Amino acid sequence: MPLRTLVVHYAEIGTKGRNRPQFERRLMAHLGLALKDVGISAGVKRMPGRLTVLLPEGSDPEVALARLAKVAGVADVACGVAVPADLASISAAAVDLLAAGPPGSFKLEVRRGDKTFPLDSIAVARQVGAACVAASGRRVDVHRPDVTVHIEIPSKVALVIGPSRPGPGGLPSGSTGRLLAFLSGGLDSPVAAWKMMRRGARVTAVHFWNRTLQGNAVLEKIEDLCRVLALTQGEVPLVVVPFEPMQRAIVAMVPEHVRMVVYRRAMLRIASALADREKALGYVTGDSLGQVASQTAENLRSIHAVADRPVFAPLIGDDKVDVVALARKLGTFEISIRPHEDCCSFLVAAHPATRTRPDVIARLEEGIPWDALVAEALAGARREVHHASGRTTAVASDDPPAVDAPPVP
Ligand code: ATP
Ligand code: MG
Repeated sequence: MPLRTLVVHYAEIGTKGRNRPQFERRLMAHLGLALKDVGISAGVKRMPGRLTVLLPEGSDPEVALARLAKVAGVADVACGVAVPADLASISAAAVDLLAAGPPGSFKLEVRRGDKTFPLDSIAVARQVGAACVAASGRRVDVHRPDVTVHIEIPSKVALVIGPSRPGPGGLPSGSTGRLLAFLSGGLDSPVAAWKMMRRGARVTAVHFWNRTLQGNAVLEKIEDLCRVLALTQGEVPLVVVPFEPMQRAIVAMVPEHVRMVVYRRAMLRIASALADREKALGYVTGDSLGQVASQTAENLRSIHAVADRPVFAPLIGDDKVDVVALARKLGTFEISIRPHEDCCSFLVAAHPATRTRPDVIARLEEGIPWDALVAEALAGARREVHHASGRTTAVASDDPPAVDAPPVP
């Protein structure tokens, strides 16, 4: 019997009470899209407490497993078969699954959700286990088995599945609103964006681009990062905003020791208009407390003082080693470490101020024509949508309709 049924367990959706079907439907749609990314068209079905996918004949379960294990909201995913919930069918499936697996001892893990099933989980394990021993000659080892077969009986259909692959957990994309994630090309910001994606946010990436300082190489990095992040979110819109005119105006008006803080405030001023267009509820940055001069509590206070929406900095309490470890796991690390110029290094002091105050910064900024500069930045902004498959499109499948949110020109 070919093992063509994928079983997806979800993470927190199980705690969502009456809203649960809504979360489940969202996850189902994202699983379907993720499989399409790898050329597999398959329907996703709902069973009590889990989702299943019957892979079409000829598709590679390994490819499907690997792809679904990246999707936000997936706790774990495994491959096996769905059979009628009776002892004979379950035993036959378990014997087949063992025959296809690596040699050695085995263990059965049984979860019986359907309480009308005549045997409890211990009795199922005992009876199916005896059939497996008889058919395979394998030994049972409940402590350190070489192979574990999972038997789930959530309804009149039972699932007999192999080892599971952990997913990111969290909530399905789009279930907690839209956010603008500031993506710099460094190590931190993609990890921060991913963490918010995992919490169900629908993220639009924004990069502020100093063309002269940074050149095109940084854009390639940012696009590659968006493609990796799209594995979790499905697709990632990216807005690239020309930042050089704004930075030149700041250099002309503001002393070098506070420029970094003013650049970061300038980003938030532009982002406000972008957030309106994207219908975003807040911003995401890769700040980690005290990591660099711009990330002292004083400077973050000065920077966030101009934000019109909440600024989420999910790495704020993380150490760099933890961020690096997560970046490696996600696959953003190798992209982030490609050399690039950081726009915030544009004509800043060697020893930037670490203890600024919002009122002092506001005074130093007096005379900067913010409205005109923001308008110029917006007029030059470019938006495209990146997919995990490497495709680029003009709009995302769930972009707000053009009528109330015209795309960035
Ligand atoms: P990262 O590793 O993400 O580059 P960092 O430790 O280098 O962060 P900063 O350069 O101070 O720190 O930037 C802090 C945050 O500001 C970044 O994590 C990012 O969210 C945002 N940011 C900085 N520069 C840009 C940019 N050019 N475009 C978009 N966002 C930016
Ligand atoms: Mg940086």
